[in-house]
Amino acid sequence: MKISTDIVVAGTGPAGLMAALALAGEGFRIVLVGPETNLTDRRTTALMEPQLDFLDRLSILGSLEAGSAPLRIMRIADATSRLFRSPVVTFRASEIGEARFGLNIPNGHLLAELDAAVKGNSNIERVTSLVARWAPQADVVEAALDNGDMIAAMLTVAADGRLSPAREAAGIQVRSRPSRQSAVVLSFSHSRSHEDTSTEFHTETGPFTQVPLQGKRSSLVWVTRPDEAETLMTLDDDTLSRRIEERMQSMLGRVTVEAGHQLYPLASALPHRFAANRVALVGEAAHIFPPIGAQGLNLGIRDIESLAAIAARHGADPGSVKALDAYDRARRPDIVARSSAVQLLNRSLLSDMLPVQVMRSAGLGLLGAASPLRALFMREGLRTGSGLGNLFRG
Ligand SMILES: Cc1cc2nc3c(=O)[nH]c(=O)nc-3n(C[C@H](O)[C@H](O)[C@H](O)COP(=O)(O)OP(=O)(O)OC[C@H]3O[C@@H](n4cnc5c(N)ncnc54)[C@H](O)[C@@H]3O)c2cc1C
Repeated sequence: MKISTDIVVAGTGPAGLMAALALAGEGFRIVLVGPETNLTDRRTTALMEPQLDFLDRLSILGSLEAGSAPLRIMRIADATSRLFRSPVVTFRASEIGEARFGLNIPNGHLLAELDAAVKGNSNIERVTSLVARWAPQADVVEAALDNGDMIAAMLTVAADGRLSPAREAAGIQVRSRPSRQSAVVLSFSHSRSHEDTSTEFHTETGPFTQVPLQGKRSSLVWVTRPDEAETLMTLDDDTLSRRIEERMQSMLGRVTVEAGHQLYPLASALPHRFAANRVALVGEAAHIFPPIGAQGLNLGIRDIESLAAIAARHGADPGSVKALDAYDRARRPDIVARSSAVQLLNRSLLSDMLPVQVMRSAGLGLLGAASPLRALFMREGLRTGSGLGNLFRG
């Protein structure tokens, strides 16, 4: 079958589903191509308040709140055994007049709500298949699907993940860094209340991050060397529970891990451009870095908001050179800054160099001691430009 549409969105992860909804909301006809939505993903995603506003505009925030946990306090604890260690730094949403930083949402819940919204949207045609071949041309982009369908559109949104075949077809080069880390992801219950607090323990092999879930439960992302991650995956539940409790110095009391641990090999990569040849990159197609400080999908949502606004301004041809140049310019500062900050923090943990350790612990120490600096950091973390931008505006 031959389908002609305004925009084809490739990928049915969170970025693809959200991009389809946001662009359909601007009045475009969308074909969304990808496999059945994966409702078995047991990870959770911490989304910050401005990105929750976006989900509210998609009319799904209300149903998401019911199964999610608020993040009111975020702590960084230096759990390295190095000579220079910083004190615990605590960020409280109330310090900057916010009720919460955001919500920790189970991915299965998020994807189910997005999937239902897509199915109920008459501007979106959902095709369950993979794109086998892309042919970007001067005034149209063609996608040949595995199921034999052929789609022609003015713009392709590449939400097809870290390997992004659409990005490759557009000739966009990627600068990749080899990764020496994997993440073990699981949920656990605990005997003490987490009091809406997330704690990121910084260790020599990467961050170990507990994020609150509803009730006395939390999710855990344990970033470490690939060989240690493999070993953790082989431990029985009692041993793994004890290891987690020890690592957290029993701050949540007795820990009991739940079934369904997942292992994610980590990667880092940054494309040279964020759009070209009628293809715009969003989500992990546009930026890949380790899960530190809950950045990935928050950044992905900002990609989508920006793309939807620019596409609406170039309604006659959202895939034109002008539109794609505007998107590339708009996203570059945010993506480069966030990717660099995450890489820097991660590398400072892994580095054995004394000056690097001194700088990291001094930086965290300063944040812990100086309340105005902490407030600035929190505002900037929530809304790009709102902390530093206000400072420079005086
Ligand atoms: C352990 C872990 C914890 C994280 N925690 C957080 C967090 O707390 N907060 C946060 O903001 N971010 C977090 N992230 C990052 C976040 O998970 C990612 O940014 C997000 O999942 C990326 O979504 P995506 O839709 O871009 O990619 P994906 O979810 O990878 O989806 C890509 C989609 O493209 C499809 N696809 C591939 N090839 C084709 C093709 N040829 N044709 C059609 N479809 C195709 C795939 O099947 C898939 O459906 C975390 C990441 C990890 C690994």
